[in-house]
Amino acid sequence: MPDVGGGTSPRVADEYAVRAWLHAASSGTVAEEIESLYLALSGDVVRRSPICRTSGRCCRFESWGHRLYVTGLETAYAWCRLDASCRPGPGEVQSARARGGCPFQREVLCGVHAIRPLGCRVYYCDQTAQSWQEDTYERYMRSVRDIHDRSGLPYLYAEWRAMLAVFAEIAADAPTVVSVPGGLSPSIGAGPSAVVRGVGLTIEGEAGGAERPADEGRT
Ligand code: SF4
Repeated sequence: MPDVGGGTSPRVADEYAVRAWLHAASSGTVAEEIESLYLALSGDVVRRSPICRTSGRCCRFESWGHRLYVTGLETAYAWCRLDASCRPGPGEVQSARARGGCPFQREVLCGVHAIRPLGCRVYYCDQTAQSWQEDTYERYMRSVRDIHDRSGLPYLYAEWRAMLAVFAEIAADAPTVVSVPGGLSPSIGAGPSAVVRGVGLTIEGEAGGAERPADEGRT
């Protein structure tokens, strides 16, 4: 596992791997498998009915004492659905790391809610979620691993901002895919609500404080 603590992190992936992930995640079977998996996960989470208070603290990693880990393929899925103008550059990723958060967080909201990675979809600070979210995360992450293996893709599991730093360096100009299934809309997701812009999508989130179960949505 790469050391991705504060400051400069080592590069965690090479150009070949990033291009392979982006190609696979853009369309076709692999993209569909990721979307099916995210949809299934959303259904599982909704059945658990965790509460989100839209505090935004789940995206402020250091202050909340946790880290978001992702695979290269998950990162590519999100990256190629963002307009180039909405992708963080190396400096923005570094700034996010310095303040202990995610470069996509907009106040208490997620700026990429419909395309956020698996860990964001599972994690709730709701105490009632602590009994099931680790097992759920492990189960679905095994499925993500299986997609890599079935597709012959390189596998890498690394901290979110370390992975984004590599994409920012290597793939700032990657083609944008204007495709996100409606079922991945914020109404069924985890993470503090939603605004995705710049890829033909505009999914508006609502700010602030209302407490509600996951199955009532966030937008
Ligand atoms: S939910 Fe969105 S803002 Fe929060 S960590 Fe995940 S991608 Fe970043």
